[in-house]
This record gives sequence, structure tokens and C-alpha cells, in this order.
Amino acid sequence: MDAVDIFSQPVETLIGIGPQIAKRLNKIGIFNCHDLLFHLPVRYEDRTRLHALGSVEDGDSVLVTGSIILTDILVRKRSMLLCRISDGTGFLTLRFFHFSSQQHQQLIVGKQLSCFGEVRMGYDGLEMVHPEYRVARDPTLMIEPCLTPIYPLTEGVSQSLLRKALKQVLPFCDDTHGLLKEWLPMSIRKQLMLPTLAGSLKTLHAPDPTLTSSTMMARARPEFKRLATEELLAHHFSRMQARNNVRLATAPVFSEPLEMSKRFTKSLGFSLTRAQHRVIKEITDDCKVAIPMMRLVQGDVGCGKTIVSAYSALWAVYSGYQVGVMAPTELLAEQHFSNFKQWFEPFDIQVCFLSSKIKGQARLDKLVDIKTGSAQVIVGTHALFQVNVEFKRLGLIVIDEQHRFGVNQRLVLKNKGQVGDFKPHQLMMSATPIPRTLAMLRYSDLDISVIDELPPGRTPIITRALPAQKRAQIISRIMGWVKQRKQAYWVCTLIEESDILQCEAAEKTWATLKTLLPEVKIGLVHGRLKAAEKMQIMADFKQHKIDLLVATTVIEVGVDVANAGLMVIENSERLGLSQLHQLRGRVGRGKEESFCILMYQSPLSKVARERLRILRETTDGFILADKDLELRGAGDVLGTRQTGEMAFKVADLSLHQELIDQVPAIAEMINKEAPEVIEPIIDRWLSAVGQYAEV
Ligand code: ADP
Ligand code: MG
Repeated sequence: MDAVDIFSQPVETLIGIGPQIAKRLNKIGIFNCHDLLFHLPVRYEDRTRLHALGSVEDGDSVLVTGSIILTDILVRKRSMLLCRISDGTGFLTLRFFHFSSQQHQQLIVGKQLSCFGEVRMGYDGLEMVHPEYRVARDPTLMIEPCLTPIYPLTEGVSQSLLRKALKQVLPFCDDTHGLLKEWLPMSIRKQLMLPTLAGSLKTLHAPDPTLTSSTMMARARPEFKRLATEELLAHHFSRMQARNNVRLATAPVFSEPLEMSKRFTKSLGFSLTRAQHRVIKEITDDCKVAIPMMRLVQGDVGCGKTIVSAYSALWAVYSGYQVGVMAPTELLAEQHFSNFKQWFEPFDIQVCFLSSKIKGQARLDKLVDIKTGSAQVIVGTHALFQVNVEFKRLGLIVIDEQHRFGVNQRLVLKNKGQVGDFKPHQLMMSATPIPRTLAMLRYSDLDISVIDELPPGRTPIITRALPAQKRAQIISRIMGWVKQRKQAYWVCTLIEESDILQCEAAEKTWATLKTLLPEVKIGLVHGRLKAAEKMQIMADFKQHKIDLLVATTVIEVGVDVANAGLMVIENSERLGLSQLHQLRGRVGRGKEESFCILMYQSPLSKVARERLRILRETTDGFILADKDLELRGAGDVLGTRQTGEMAFKVADLSLHQELIDQVPAIAEMINKEAPEVIEPIIDRWLSAVGQYAEV
């Protein structure tokens, strides 16, 4: 093959890859030889030596050899082929659930057999299920000179196919050909002690014979770090570009509603915390300037973010602009609506509610109000930013629980309200504190404000974990609690994100609790109720017409009832730390001591046990976020695993923490020394996901 431009050649040009296979590779993002080169092994197998059967243990993946001492077909529910070998130091059984008669005939007692697979302890000693094997006199035939890379696969593409394809590409991957551009300046590589790109890729695909599998598995290897550095830089640069692009637009300039905010503050009935004051100042400082604000307010559940956004809204309305307030769930949007209405009505500010459930004439009327500008603060779900919703003069967008919106929704938002180069200010709020390092990556295009203080007079929540067997005890506890004129939540969860099943489970629990606790007024709220019904039930709960509220995780965000100081969470072992923390944040809003009971099904997995332990020990959202990252990995923490956003190819956020911290400084150096490599670096890592990088 022509060496000149091999990396830009489509994979079809490689021997062994036809149009069919190429299509399958395209599906996992491999189009040309360059893509193939960046398709990295997930692990390695060690076939470099034979192991004595007497020395292998449960869980080892090893190459072994021995002579066949028995071959048999066992007829159980389904028949299986068994073959036992011995090498004088021990025995091993090979077990095949799918086999041919030809295979059976080949496994003749007395012949030498070598095989590779994972050893496990079966009923009858060590065994391998469906190992790779060869019957041959020479036991060294299966030995490989170096570690065998194992690649992520897609249907219809085998390991050996990928290996063969890479063997054709790898010879061109070195520093002498100069085909693979090295973008990291030498000075930076030296300082960080990083190998070259070509050298790193070569080592990862074809490890040197001296490297053992345990050293290669360690993702802390410099080769991984080399690639991770460039990948993280690509993300960082692309976010910085996005940030700069936003700042090119013109934003409305708000002026301070002096008189109005004084009156507003008086009407609240409490005084703002220092942290709230500081954050309001940070926001309004941004809005006084004609550069679009992109600010994220982070603060634990209950720290009072809503009121902070209300102040910002006051500035916008006073300056003659509309405000869009968007929440991820109907329930939360409704609650915001009733809050804003209550706060703003005395000021003659028109607050309007819009969700996809509002239809027909009512909807049309609202759309007119929004278009003519008679609606000033518009609260709703993402329905707010659908195409047919036209604002008159949108000046501020508030997005609550920002991380819960998908990439696509954020894409739409990005352009909403933008007319020419006029762009509204954006205020995002999140109660899921994400670890600082992660925030730097994910949100390097945003300015971040932190509310690190809870309103005074809150008492910490006492958290207990109890097995489901103690259900009766928990129920009688609720009885006692309600007798003290206090309220409680009972949250039903399920593994599946299925709305219907969750609601069914909640309905069942509700019915059972009603028979068990006849004197207690029990309400039920879930996602399938009509908006009006939900609102009614929440209102009843707030007014204490309901003692115990059975709910699905729809109550997770925003619900605020100070007298409800007890929460039972069923199947808590199934939820992640952040979600549990969010749920728990519904209690502990009053002055009295509150409790959270995490009910679980035993036995607990190690991770679940750890999660529940951490929750018992701390209520600090930032500590929990760090732990969550450790336990689950970044994709889950950010809730972006499905969308593929932030899905790093190489960088491992829990492993490369230190590196992530260094990225802004490295980026700065490159910006000074070699700004011309920025574009190519972004291109190399993000060209396929280009549009997401801007969201
Ligand atoms: P979150 O940050 O979780 O969105 P909210 O904005 O819902 O929190 O506020 C939680 C509760 O605390 C609300 O009832 C709100 O009115 C109240 N609150 C907010 N700020 C203060 C404050 N400074 N002092 C007392 N109560 C406050
Ligand atoms: Mg909130």
C-alpha cells in the first residue's frame, strides 16, 4: 500500500476488509485507517507462556497444555461436550455447550491439547468454558511472542480480523514516516515525561515482548497518559472555542431595579444567606454587560437557588425583557410557577405556565401572550423552547437542574431567543455538585457560582439503612411519626426507568399502606397523573391534608414541604449516590430533626453497601459527588452515558485526576508556544462529535 497517505485511506483498502465489514466498522466510528489506529485495546491476554495446571487459579486467563484423559458427551437438560486434560501437575475440564460431532471425534484420549481461556472453579475442579484450543503434538504452537490485545468489538467483527487489519497499518505508525502528526510540542512532552504519539499507539497495539499483562493493564501507563493528555486538551480547546463564540454575540443590558428589589427582599420573610448575596451579585454583574452570560450556579439541595434566579428575573423584567424558566419535570415546573407567581404578583409581573400537557385553545392563548410580551416570566418544561413558541423579547433563560436536559434539548436552547447576533443571558442551576475536576472539563465554557451555605436553622438529616425484612418496624415508625402531627414520604423505586412499572409499584405500595395504616391519610403521586391532579395532591400535602405521600422518583427535584421530615426510600440499593442524595434533600427543610430510611433488599453488593455507608456518613453534596465519581465513573455521574457526550476514548476521569487538573495550564502553554496545533488536536479527537462540543 502507498505509504504516503495510508491513514486517510478508507478501511476497505486493507486486506481482509470488504464493503460488508467496512459498514460494520463504520458503525463504531471506524472509517479510515487513522480511526482504526485509535481503536484501542480494552485489555490484554497473556499467551506468551504455558502455565502448569497445578499452579492456575480460579479467574486466571491462561494458556495451558496437557494430554487428553477423557472425552464424553453429558446429556442433561441440554447435552454438552466434556474433555479433561492433565499435565502431571493437575487436571482441567473443557466444557462445550455448542459442539459438532467432528469436534467430539477430534478430542481423542492420549492426544496433546493446548488451550487458552479463563479458568473457573466448577463442581468437579477447574474448568474452562468454550476455550480456544488446538489439538497438536507441539504444545508451543499457541504461544505468542507478545501480549495479545483485546479490542472492543461490534457484531460481525472478530478480534482476529481487527488484529490482522492493524498489522497492516502499524508499520506506518512511527516517528520516521512522519505520517502520524505529532501535535504536542516536544517541550511539553518532556516536561510531562510523555512518549510520542506514534510510539504510544504502537506500544498499545503491539506491546513489547518484555511487557507483562499486569503492567499493560495498568491504565496509568505513560502511553495511555500521552493519549489522554491530547484527548483532554481537545475537549478543553473545543469548549474554550465555544465559549469565545458565545461571547461574540450581543446580549441585553439589564439595569438594577433598586426600589423593586428592596421591596421584594422585604416581602420574602427571610433574609438571604451570604452565599446567595454573593451569587446574585455575580449574576447581575454579568447581566449589566452586553456579553451573553453563561453561568452555572451549583449548590446543594435546599440551599435556595430558586430565589437567586428570581432576583435575576427581576432585573430582566425591570429592564423590559422576558424571562424563560425551564425545569426538567412537570412537577418541578409547576412548583416554580407557583413560587414565581406568589413572589411576582404583588409587582404586577405576569407569570405564565407552559408545558406539553397544555393543549388546544389554552395553549394558543399562552403562545399569543408570549409572543406579544404580555407574559413576562414564562415557566415551563422543555415545551418552552419548542419551535412554535415565539418570544417577544427574551432576555434571560433560567435552566433548573441543567444536567438533566439532554444534548439535543441544549442544542435547541443554544439558538433559542437568538435573533441575529443578539443572544439572551443564560443562567443554569444544578443541585448535583459535580467534582471540581469534572466541572472544569464539562463546564469550561461556563462561569461557575457556588452557593456553599444552607439557610440557617436547618438540622442535619439522620440517615439509616435497614433491610426490607424490617418493613413492619418501619411502618409502625411512620404511625408514631404521623401521630406527632408530622408528615412523611415513601418513595418507590425500580431498576427499570420504566415509568409505567414505577407507577404500578407505587400504586401497590399505596394500597398496602392504606390497609396497614387505616388512620393515616395517605396520598399518591406519580408521573402518570394529570398535571392538575399532581398539583392538587402536592397542594394537599403542603397544607397537611395528607400525612404520608407515596411517590415515585418524580418528587426527586424541587418538592418543598418543611413539615415532612421523614423519608423512606424503598430499594435504595438500586439508586446512585447522587440520586439518593437528591431524594433525601426533600427532608431536612424544617427546624426539627429529620430522618431518611434507606430500605434495601439483601444481600447488598459491595458497591451498594459502600454507597449506603457513605450516605449515612455525610450530607455534603460535594463529598458525595467525588465518591460517586469514584464508584461509578464519569459518564454516569454526568448522566451522559447514553448520549455519548463526554464519552472519552482514552481518558479515565478517576485515574487521570491529576492530569485533568493540569489541562488548563498545558492548554495555556500550547496557546502561547504552538497555537497552530489547537485546530488539528480538536479535529483529531472530536471531528465526529463536533456538534456536541458546542453545546
Ligand atoms: P434549591 O437550591 O434546592 O432549589 P430552593 O430554592 O427550593 O432550594 O429553596 C429551598 C427552600 O429554602 C425554599 O422553601 C426557599 O424558600 C427557602 N429559602 C431559600 N433561601 C432562604 C434563606 N436565605 N433563608 C431561609 N429560607 C430560604
Ligand atoms: Mg431547586
